[in-house]
Amino acid sequence: MQALLQDVAMRAGRYLQELAQRKVAPDPAAVAALDALDGELSDVPLDPHALIERLDRYGSPATMAEAGPRFFGFVMGGALPAALAADWLAAAWDQNTGLYNITPTTARLEQAALRWLLDLLGLPAGAAGAFVTGATVANFVSLAAARHRVLERAGWNVEADGLFGAPPITVVVGAEAHPTVIKALGLLGLGRNRVVRVPVDAQGRLRVDAIPALTTPAIVCAQVGNVNTGACDAVAQIRARVGGDAWLHVDGAFGLWARVAPTRAALVAGIETADSWATDAHKWLNVPYDCGLAFVRDPLALSASMAITAEYLPTDSVYRNPSDFTPELSRRARGVAVWAALQSLGRSGVSEMIERNCRQARRFAEALAASGFEILNDVALNQVLVSFGDAARTRRVIEALQAEGTCWCGGTVWQGRSAMRISVCSWATSDDDVERSIDAMRRVAAG
Ligand SMILES: *Cc1c(COP(=O)(O)O)cnc(C)c1O
Repeated sequence: MQALLQDVAMRAGRYLQELAQRKVAPDPAAVAALDALDGELSDVPLDPHALIERLDRYGSPATMAEAGPRFFGFVMGGALPAALAADWLAAAWDQNTGLYNITPTTARLEQAALRWLLDLLGLPAGAAGAFVTGATVANFVSLAAARHRVLERAGWNVEADGLFGAPPITVVVGAEAHPTVIKALGLLGLGRNRVVRVPVDAQGRLRVDAIPALTTPAIVCAQVGNVNTGACDAVAQIRARVGGDAWLHVDGAFGLWARVAPTRAALVAGIETADSWATDAHKWLNVPYDCGLAFVRDPLALSASMAITAEYLPTDSVYRNPSDFTPELSRRARGVAVWAALQSLGRSGVSEMIERNCRQARRFAEALAASGFEILNDVALNQVLVSFGDAARTRRVIEALQAEGTCWCGGTVWQGRSAMRISVCSWATSDDDVERSIDAMRRVAAG
């Protein structure tokens, strides 16, 4: 075991070291060679050393360099060294982190990380939290708590009796709500299409004046951090408009982190007036996949929708039982990497990382605008939308840039205009990486 883990540590270290030098997208020949890993299942046991050697030989070169410093696709983030290392140790512990009595170390680490996060993000100290797989499930969990509470107030127990015959819930979303919010509503029986869609402004912000008068029960979904523009809904104004009886949820998969950066915090002013919040740790906090978080102001609303009991489960505990708040019973200790990321950065380091990425996004926008390319969004956070001309030309530049390999950006269509998306959210991205990437974009666009 020792030798095997040392071998893998050595290989992983080398992989990560080489990441800054290699092309960001994998070589097509390396991707084609993945056939080597996709043959028949061996009839006999294989030697773990040989198997790891094969994984590294064929698997590593065919990966996308998402953990590297110049991957700007989607909104991803890398993995902080301490977070990756802690995740490895947690994997060795193999703790099924559902119940404090059984797995005290990992349950306490999650409880501590949760407390620190509520404080850092300026959310109510008494809120409950759930470490889940990502913002998709964090939205689902938050909206399950919402469904419980708004129906309970209407005299209906949705966990016991389901939705058949329940009082109808008015669900309000912005026209730019992330598709995972819509999916979560579908999973909860609230319907993907059975929603009131409120129009948005040019940045994708929900237009508060266009929210209709609501009758309870009602759930309103706001967003901080539009996946294209980075724009944040005006949460305090939304709360003022919808009143205290509606459940207000905020999808802040990456935008919630603006709160920790002094020069960006104003973008998310008033988020603390919401009832629930979803965010990702695997995006801007830079922990390894997968890790997201749901926070719910009223712990009982969350536990009412998630907790179970059974004679064989020792659920009595002075400390929090993680699985009282999650869809899963058995679960890996996701919070350990969050604990390590937060401790390794400290308060100052978390702020500095978010500030730096925002400053780098602005540098991209200024440099590309100076080269005559059009920036389609207000670069207030970490997202930049660039047009290189018409749709065909923008698409050609994106493809050429991906093939050139210095960096990786994807495409999108923003309010009818084709654009390249630049998402800056990795701890590993230095100012030099930004300059190298700008040079590559200019070179490719000129060619
Ligand atoms: C990324 C994202 C999600 C989904 O998060 P996953 O971690 O992929 O599940 C939801 N909402 C917004 C705004 C996002 O950016």
